[in-house]
Amino acid sequence: MVSPAEQVTATLEVLRRVFGYDAFRGFQREVIDHVVAGGDALVLMPTGGGKSLCYQIPALVRDGVAVVISPLIALMQDQVDALTAVGVRAGFLNSTLDPDTRRLVEAEFVAGEIDLLYLAPEALASRATLSLLDRGRISLFAIDEAHCVSQWGHDFRPDYLNLSMLHERWPGVPRIALTATATSATRSEIATRLSLTAARHFVASFDRPNIQYRIVPKREPRKQLLALLRDEHPGDSGIVYCLSRASVEKTADFLVANGIDALPYHAGLDAGTRAANQQRFLRADGVVMVATIAFGMGIDKPDVRFVAHLDLPKSVEGYYQETGRAGRDGLPSTAWLAYGLQDVVQQRKMIDTSEGDLAHRRNLAAHLDAMLALCETVRCRRAQLLEYFGEPATGGCGNCDTCLEPPESWDGTVAAQKLLSTVFRLDRERNQRFGAGHCIDILLGRATDKITQHRHDSLTVFGIGDDLSEAEWRGVVRQLLAEGLLAVEGDYGTLALTDASGEVLGRRRTVMLRREAARPAKAAKPRGAATVVAELPAEAAGTFERLRAWRAATAKEQGVPAYVIFHDATLRQIASDAPSSLAELSRISGVGENKLAKYGEQLLGVLADAS
Ligand code: ADP
Ligand code: ZN
Repeated sequence: MVSPAEQVTATLEVLRRVFGYDAFRGFQREVIDHVVAGGDALVLMPTGGGKSLCYQIPALVRDGVAVVISPLIALMQDQVDALTAVGVRAGFLNSTLDPDTRRLVEAEFVAGEIDLLYLAPEALASRATLSLLDRGRISLFAIDEAHCVSQWGHDFRPDYLNLSMLHERWPGVPRIALTATATSATRSEIATRLSLTAARHFVASFDRPNIQYRIVPKREPRKQLLALLRDEHPGDSGIVYCLSRASVEKTADFLVANGIDALPYHAGLDAGTRAANQQRFLRADGVVMVATIAFGMGIDKPDVRFVAHLDLPKSVEGYYQETGRAGRDGLPSTAWLAYGLQDVVQQRKMIDTSEGDLAHRRNLAAHLDAMLALCETVRCRRAQLLEYFGEPATGGCGNCDTCLEPPESWDGTVAAQKLLSTVFRLDRERNQRFGAGHCIDILLGRATDKITQHRHDSLTVFGIGDDLSEAEWRGVVRQLLAEGLLAVEGDYGTLALTDASGEVLGRRRTVMLRREAARPAKAAKPRGAATVVAELPAEAAGTFERLRAWRAATAKEQGVPAYVIFHDATLRQIASDAPSSLAELSRISGVGENKLAKYGEQLLGVLADAS
C-alpha cells in the first residue's frame, strides 16, 4: 500500500519525468489524487485545460490497465502515438485493426504489458470484448467526450447510454468521465446517465483567455475570410466552418485559388478522402480545414490558430465547442464569425420547417435566440459567454472585439417603428408579405420593378427611411429579428409582426441598436504563429523556424503529427533559452525523459548549427 504522501510524490514525479511538465494545472492534481485513491470523478474542463493527464497519470500510478472509452476511432492511433512518444505503453482495439495486431494488443492487455487501452463505446456491446476485459486487470475506466451521452447535444452517440453498465459489471473499478461541454443541464444529464451522481464533480472555469472572440457583420464573407487569413494568420493552421456541403466546397476552392493550403471536409465526401484530409490537417503544418460541423470532435491538434465561422452556429454551446478547438496550446488564437441578416432568416426558416414537435422547435428557437443575443451584444463577448454557462464574469476581458473597439449603440426606436409600420401596412392594407430586401427598398424609396408593379410607391412609408443606408437597414432588420420584435415566416422568409412589435409601434418600448461599423474592425495586432515568432528576438525567431523544419522532417519520417514530436510552445522556449546541454534542455516544459533521450542530441545539434 502506498501512503498518501508517497502517492503525491509519485504523481508529481510522473508529471515531470514522463511528460516533462513542472507543475499541475488547475485542479489536475486534485482529480488525479482522487482517482488514484479509487474515487469516481466527473471532470468538466474547457478544451486545452489538460483533461488527458487526469486519467493518464492515474493509469500509470495505479496497478492494471486503464480502459479509455473514446468515440473517435480515427483518432485513436494518434492518441497512442502521442503516448508512445513520451514512453507510455498504450494500445487500442477497433475495427481498423488487422487480426494479428488485434491478438497482440489483446495479449498485452491480459498480461498487463500496457498501461492504457483505448476502446470505442460500441465495443462494449460485444461479448468477446467483455470477456476479454474480464481476463485482464482494469485500473480505471476513463470515459472521454462524456457529453456524447446527452440526447440534446449535437454529438449524441447511442452507445454511450450503455456505459452505465461499467459500474454494474465492475463495481470496484473507479470511473472518470471527462467533457468540455459546459452547461449545467448537460452536466447533470451526464451524471445521471452514467450513474455518476455520487462521483466527485470537478468543474473548471470555462474561460479560454488566449482566444480572441470577434463577430463581424457579413459583407463579402469569403473575401473577409481571406483578409483575415492573409493579414493575421499567414501560414497558420485553422478551421473554417460552413453550414452546407456546397459552401464548404466553394470556400475551399476559393481559398486554394488564392494560394491558401485549404482542404474540404463534409459528410458527402467518401470516407477515404475524409480520412486523408483529416490526416493532412493533423500532420502537416499550416493547413486550413474548411468543414461542416461534422468535423472537429476529438481533434487534439494543439496549434489550431484560428476558427472561423462563415455561417451562424445554431447555439452558443455549438459556438463555444467549435471555437474551443483553437489554441489548445494556450498560445494566442482567434475565433472569428461573420454574421448577417440572411443567417437569421435562414435559421429561423430551418427551425420552422424542422421535424419534431413544438417543444423541440421551441428548444431550437431558444438556442438560436441565445446565439443571436451574443452576436448583437454591445457588452464583452467573453462575459456574455461565461454568464451563459453560469459563470459570473467580472468586467470586460480586453481580448474580444467589443472590448478592443467598443461598439456604439444608438436609439433605433424611430427606425424600428418605420420598419415595423412598413411590414404592418403591407400586411393590413394589402394583405401581402415580403422579405427584408423589398421592405428596405420601400423604406429607401427605390422605384424597382417590383415596387412599381405592386404600386408600393403609393404607400405612406415609401421613402421615409432614406436617412439610413441599406447596410444600416439590414442591421436594423437583423437586430429586430434577433430581439423577437420581428419574425420571418414561410419558404420565402417574409417578414411578419410579433406580439412584441406592438410595444414598439405603440411607443411603449425604446429600441437600442448596435451601430454597424463603417469599415470592418481590424484586430489590435496580428496574432497566431506570426505573433508566436514575431514576439521572439530576431535570432531566436530564426532558430524557431529551424526547429520547426527539423520537427516537420522528423514527424514525416515517423509518420506522426508534428505536435507529437514537440509542441510549438516547447520549440519556442528552446529557441529563446538556447540550452547548451542535455541537463539544461531537460528543464524545458514539454521535454520529458523519453523525448530527451530520443531527440536531445539532435536538438542540441540544430541549436549548434544555428549559432
Ligand atoms: P483537453 O483534453 O482538456 O483539451 P489536453 O489534455 O489535450 O487538453 O491538454 C492540452 C495541452 O496542455 C496539451 O498540449 C498538454 O500536453 C498540455 N498540458 C496539460 N497539462 C499540463 C501541465 N500540467 N503543464 C503543462 N502543459 C500541460
Ligand atoms: Zn471582452
